[in-house]
Amino acid sequence: MRIGALEAGGTKMVCAVGDENGNILERISIPTETPAITMPKIIDYFKERNIEALGIGTFGPVDLDKKSPTYGYITVTPKLAWAHYDLYGTLKEALQVPVGLDTDVNASALGEATWGITKGLDNSIYITIGTGVGIGVYVDGKLLHGMLHPEGGHILLAKHPDDNYKGRCPFHPNCMESLAAGPAVEERWGKKGYELADREEVWELESYYIAQALVNYTLMLSPRRIILGGGLMHQEQLFPLVRKKFQELLNGYLKTKELEDLETFIVPPSLNDNQGIMGCIKLALNEIEK
Ligand code: ZN
Repeated sequence: MRIGALEAGGTKMVCAVGDENGNILERISIPTETPAITMPKIIDYFKERNIEALGIGTFGPVDLDKKSPTYGYITVTPKLAWAHYDLYGTLKEALQVPVGLDTDVNASALGEATWGITKGLDNSIYITIGTGVGIGVYVDGKLLHGMLHPEGGHILLAKHPDDNYKGRCPFHPNCMESLAAGPAVEERWGKKGYELADREEVWELESYYIAQALVNYTLMLSPRRIILGGGLMHQEQLFPLVRKKFQELLNGYLKTKELEDLETFIVPPSLNDNQGIMGCIKLALNEIEK
């Protein structure tokens, strides 16, 4: 089988062809400019490769309500040329194959749940912490949607008493993304995350915010495992700090076999940064099955 996969991001569009086992046979990366420039390149790539279906994991927010007349449209985005753009409809019409669609982070959650470290678990969460914070939620074997899709990057957190940073999100001074995404780290400390690797106080504070978010997600969504990905999580020293603070904040309230070993409960991604594109392959396969 030849399955198309598109990871649509704010800076690049990763186009790939894979098979039904999640193997990636080839891929290219196209810069994200305006739809008028970028979309014909994507369409040509997939047309030339005779794909049987396409799966898309996109930046958002995106309308995922199948009953909505604007299903598959990017909604509001700082990338203005893409606001209210019919991503799904344009590709569906041009390629004439089944098209599956979800958020980029839901695609990553699905890739890991199908072929990675959360395979076989009915409930799991994938969180990406990079330029922004996104959360993909896999519940009872399906991705969680609802009126839109989870926007867990914007949950409100208690600020650390010693943190005087004003926050970066234009909507919420104390949401997760506002306090803990890559640009917040850079603005608060005056350097990029990877340049701060040996500054203990940076990661102490960062793990305080990540752990708070994880406690909230755990209490609300009851995951059996949480994956922490994204550029900032390449700072691997964060993992033990986050687990320790998670334990402190939860304070023994939940007692499950999953939480007995936090090294297997809070984990990094397992698919060599292919989890997103592999999730797109699975989105396409699900669409064929329908
Ligand atoms: Zn926010």
